[in-house]
Amino acid sequence: MPAKTDSRSKRRNQLLQQIQSDARRAIFGTPAESYRTCGTPTCRCHGPGPKHGPHLYISYRGEAAKTTGYYVPKAAQKSIRDGVEAWKRLQKSLRELTDMNKQNILEQARKQRSANK
Ligand SMILES: [Zn+2]
Repeated sequence: MPAKTDSRSKRRNQLLQQIQSDARRAIFGTPAESYRTCGTPTCRCHGPGPKHGPHLYISYRGEAAKTTGYYVPKAAQKSIRDGVEAWKRLQKSLRELTDMNKQNILEQARKQRSANK
């Protein structure tokens, strides 16, 4: 079974590298675009429109499971969006990795059991 073990440890290393690079950039939260009215009462946005936007807003569960969030300035939007994608990939990778951990542990336990017979 060495071929199978090799490809598994190769995949494992790939995942660990992906996790490290994604973790550096990851942003936690759900992006949404919003349109707002401004502080000028005579502005078009208070009348027939259109309103100002779109503004990128990131919402997330903070401490005590309270939903909170923040507006993202234009210059930071690309990095924030990339970070949100990195966080999604991170969760997938971690799930796959933890599944491998589990399989390895269970396989070793099985081997030990049959060696002790
Ligand atoms: Zn306005």
